[in-house]
Amino acid sequence: YQNAFRVFFAAKSQNEALARIMTAAFLSQYDPTLAELTDIKTAVSEAVTNAIIHGYEEKAGEVELFCGYQDGKIYIEVADQGAGIADINQAREPLYTSKPELERSGMGFTIMESFMDGVRVQSKQGEGTRVYMEK
Ligand code: ATP
Ligand code: MG
Repeated sequence: YQNAFRVFFAAKSQNEALARIMTAAFLSQYDPTLAELTDIKTAVSEAVTNAIIHGYEEKAGEVELFCGYQDGKIYIEVADQGAGIADINQAREPLYTSKPELERSGMGFTIMESFMDGVRVQSKQGEGTRVYMEK
């Protein structure tokens, strides 16, 4: 990468804002449009929320955020070492949620896919999840 940063922060919902702000600060070096900035921040926010709520089920843990820049494109990774996802294809389906009781709408992955140019999910049950996004 021509530029990049990687941080680890506690899996607490108050840190979703921190993740969005760090991402925006990094991106702003590359003169994004307001729309690009909003899209990427929203996608990061969805991935971080998933790590906290589903990965760690709101217990203690660390979330990793990586942002890289190369040749006009932004590359993002959000990772946890939590529960992992049993069926990634099912998890990515619009409206699928394993937590309907928490009033989740099951739209997080769909939002990431529609706001970013590419989304890849790597996950293993009991080991954790890593979401790769680019735009
Ligand atoms: P919403 O994002 O609309 O509040 P949601 O989080 O349930 O609802 P998605 O973000 O699309 O919907 O995620 C779909 C499902 O994938 C989740 O319900 C959960 O079962 C699983 N999932 C997503 N991210 C993780 C993760 N980091 N660790 C474990 N499971 C995950
Ligand atoms: Mg979600």
